[in-house]
Amino acid sequence: MKYIKPAWLFESTSEEEPNLFSVSNVENDYKSYTYVCHCGKINILVDNCIKEYKCTCGNSNFLNVEEAKLDFNNFCSYYYFNKKIRIEFEYNYKIDILNNKVQAICFIKIPIKIDKKNNKLKYEEIVIASAIPNKTNKVDKIPKEYSKEIETTLRSMIVKVEEFEKFIEIKLSRNGSKVKQKEIYFFLNHINLKEKEFINWKNADLLIGENLTIQTALIELTNNKKYKSVKKAIFRNYQFQMESSNIFNTLLNYLATTKIDDPNFIVELINMEYLNNDKFLTNLDKTLFLEFTDFLIRNYKFKQVIHFFKHFDNFIKIDNENFKQAYLVFQDILRQYHILKFNLEKDFEKVRCTPRKIHDQFAKIINARKYKYLLDKKLTYSPKELKAQIKIDHYVVKLPHNGAELYTWADILHNCMASYLSEIENKQTVIYGFFIEDKIVFAVEIRNEQILQAYRAYNRNLMPFEQSVLSKWFEESYLN
Ligand SMILES: [Zn+2]
Repeated sequence: MKYIKPAWLFESTSEEEPNLFSVSNVENDYKSYTYVCHCGKINILVDNCIKEYKCTCGNSNFLNVEEAKLDFNNFCSYYYFNKKIRIEFEYNYKIDILNNKVQAICFIKIPIKIDKKNNKLKYEEIVIASAIPNKTNKVDKIPKEYSKEIETTLRSMIVKVEEFEKFIEIKLSRNGSKVKQKEIYFFLNHINLKEKEFINWKNADLLIGENLTIQTALIELTNNKKYKSVKKAIFRNYQFQMESSNIFNTLLNYLATTKIDDPNFIVELINMEYLNNDKFLTNLDKTLFLEFTDFLIRNYKFKQVIHFFKHFDNFIKIDNENFKQAYLVFQDILRQYHILKFNLEKDFEKVRCTPRKIHDQFAKIINARKYKYLLDKKLTYSPKELKAQIKIDHYVVKLPHNGAELYTWADILHNCMASYLSEIENKQTVIYGFFIEDKIVFAVEIRNEQILQAYRAYNRNLMPFEQSVLSKWFEESYLN
């Protein structure tokens, strides 16, 4: 691992600062590249592309500001893992609002502009990691290539909750009450929500407006849909949810107004009161739910998508006992979608837009992909192993030639043979199947030139005559 101090390189088109060439077109191809070395030297070169550059101090490692800004985590991983370079950034810390949350923030400063008159650099802060006080004060999700130091410092910051509390502008419950603790965590996470009643909102981070009251938050949920009917439906649903459970879950309202254009369908979805409440929405993965809805909308008409949801709503409506079942099916579909979401459309055959049909179609694709994956796992053997594939008595002895074949055998024999796939691939072990008329009767595992195990279906022991066929085959055909 090589340790380097960060030195930066950024470009600006020359037209920013008027000069002699400004009137000509020539200089459009030229950019000025500013090299900010860690030794303190700054050099500006005008060229038509980035060239090798070495500072007088000997350093030639300049990090591209644009790349770092684009995706900082990836940028660092790239150097850390691909180039075996660890960049020794200078970390800064502060408590501030970031994404509507009051957070302890670790950031670095990188130069993005230069004022050529006085050679002064303008810096931008790039957030590396952040944390919010929570029940356990655990800091999570710090990319592993960054030092332990960041984690330790952030943790030491978030234990001092008072420092964060200062940002909360609404009056919280009295000190020491249990409610207060809950309020603090909630409002630190939703600093843009300015009424105490928001504490009963779920998925409130879908709201991004500043200084929201209940009233303005509900209006934000209309997503600028100007129809009175939409606004009415949302306000009514808010009241309904609060009255029935004292919790308002924003998710389905948000989904309705952001994904669907037609006001009638929006209202229809919002009015599905069995779906549109926290009891149903609470444990659903928000991102997945929204993505899955996008998927439905890409492939079906709004009317059909609404129908899909209506199925669930009606199902629960008929009998509240059905709630759990509806919920599990919905979770299951989302889970399937999660597995399939990349490249799903190329395999997806448009079935009727109902929960059952979509679920079965997803299951079919999952199985097909698994099968394809296994089919592609080719198994190879030594000449000695291959030549032991013979006919003996009324048995035919075979080797599995790919993962799919092994899985089929395991399926018929109801055993865990399939889990040997990688060991067979790595030539640590070999499995033969003994077939009668194309049906596998038993299988044998040979490892280090010895019979390790041989079983019939459900891991039952071989019959005596099978045992003797096996021994004969092993002595005469395998070992020889
Ligand atoms: Zn230098």
